[in-house]
Amino acid sequence: MANVRLEDIKRRFNNVTAIEDITFEIPDGEFWVLVGPSGCGKSTILRTIAGLETATSGKLYIGDRLVNNIPARQRDVAMVFQNYALYPHMSVAENIGFGLQMRKVDRKIIQERVMNVARSLSLDHLLDRKPKQLSGGQQQRVALGRAIAREPQVFLLDEPLSNLDAQLRDDTRAELKQLHQELGITTIYVTHDQVEAMTLADKIVVLNRGRIQQIGDPQTIYASPSNQMVATFLGSPPMNILPAIYENNAFDVSGQLLTIPAVVKEKLQLRQGHSYDLGIRPEHIFINVDASLRDATRTACRRLPPTSQEANESQLIVEVKVVEPLGRETLIRAGLPGSAVVLNIQVGADVRPRPGD
Ligand code: ADP
Repeated sequence: MANVRLEDIKRRFNNVTAIEDITFEIPDGEFWVLVGPSGCGKSTILRTIAGLETATSGKLYIGDRLVNNIPARQRDVAMVFQNYALYPHMSVAENIGFGLQMRKVDRKIIQERVMNVARSLSLDHLLDRKPKQLSGGQQQRVALGRAIAREPQVFLLDEPLSNLDAQLRDDTRAELKQLHQELGITTIYVTHDQVEAMTLADKIVVLNRGRIQQIGDPQTIYASPSNQMVATFLGSPPMNILPAIYENNAFDVSGQLLTIPAVVKEKLQLRQGHSYDLGIRPEHIFINVDASLRDATRTACRRLPPTSQEANESQLIVEVKVVEPLGRETLIRAGLPGSAVVLNIQVGADVRPRPGD
């Protein structure tokens, strides 16, 4: 096992900079997830750590060893790819033991280790099968097994669940987490799926356009995103962003006035007359259906006075557009009258307004 340290790593392809300013250190045994939209540089970072790409500049350490110039096979890392990359002509047992065989490990030891790994991944009854006789989930477990059997210092996983269907993906994700808890091997996991990032990671590295946006544990990143990209990338439905102008101690949102709690206001040092984007999570909005407003919202926006009571109760009039009952909760899309802004609202399953409310 080992820690992994990247110091100011940059990778250029001709005149395109794929990643730059990449600096972080993963402590020994932790599970880190690199997340971000397609093309943000996740795979390039992972492949650089694996030794499949060479950094244009910067330093890369695995444990105490500077590995920039160490070939991939001597880095003691094991990588698992999205497409499994199993050898089709080999059995499950041969696939799992392949890395050990290449290292000329004693046959008896290989057999023993393959059996142990197969048991821990519930593959022990499939050892004689060929990959094409397995389901996608089983093939991915074999690919994981091959990586585990090598007992590497670091696991590198590149979107390993993206070819599995939804149910299997959830199950395999939980298995991966359990496996990591048992083995404690430093793991770096690449995904564009924010649910995988939130559920698996000790720490998340959010990337955009080749640069790190934020590093932190999932809860901190969710509660205190460092910028709008991070805020809207993590969370489903995504955070609402409302353009507003701050005037007379309230936000003007498309002609309606919204107040925010005094404690929040103090922290933000707001300036009168300035434009802001208000970020509001869908689960932090509550709705109060008022049938008397049914027609009023359609025709004109009404100005609500800043709330008179405890000032942490802020209100906007919105019109319900779409209601999606999901069993455990209800998702609502609602429009601000007189504006193109649409709000995502997540409420309890028992709340069921009608379109037009
Ligand atoms: P991600 O894994 O986040 O989808 P990548 O790391 O694959 O992103 O790619 C990051 C950027 O680098 C993209 O703009 C991509 O087009 C570019 N890139 C990656 N590999 C190469 C390559 N071999 N040649 C040229 N450009 C590349």
